[in-house]
Amino acid sequence: MYENNNVGNVTYMTNYINHIIINFALVLILLFFYQQNTFLSNTQLGIFIITYFIGTVFLTPDIDTRSEPSRRCGVLFKPYTIMSHHRGQTHKWYGSFFIILYILIILSLIIIIFDPSYLFPFYNTLLTYKNEIVYAVIGIFLSNFFHIVTDFLS
Ligand SMILES: [Zn+2]
Repeated sequence: MYENNNVGNVTYMTNYINHIIINFALVLILLFFYQQNTFLSNTQLGIFIITYFIGTVFLTPDIDTRSEPSRRCGVLFKPYTIMSHHRGQTHKWYGSFFIILYILIILSLIIIIFDPSYLFPFYNTLLTYKNEIVYAVIGIFLSNFFHIVTDFLS
């Protein structure tokens, strides 16, 4: 679906809501089958569900244009929206990694601005929680992947 740049446009809103409905329906189907063979801990499953939600509502591939998701992310994603073109890198299967990399760069810049001495402790913390971060990446990746497939099929 091509997003309309007019934020108040009815067609645009429907597209955004359709993405949310389809993404949530797909993850509910996944979770339904998941219960039959539990291989994730409750923490890992919780992280996946939270980041899947974030990837569906906020950090969607449509962050590359003036859209409801980019508006919801506020000023932090403004540079990303300006630098990218719609249906560019974020609408590729690996697009969520660009979004995650962008978040890492922004967080690093914020830390550097306030107190650079926190930068390496920050990276150390990320490494400490690398097992949990894997499920966060999977949550965002899968929600973005479903968005791209929906765009492709519509
Ligand atoms: Zn899209």
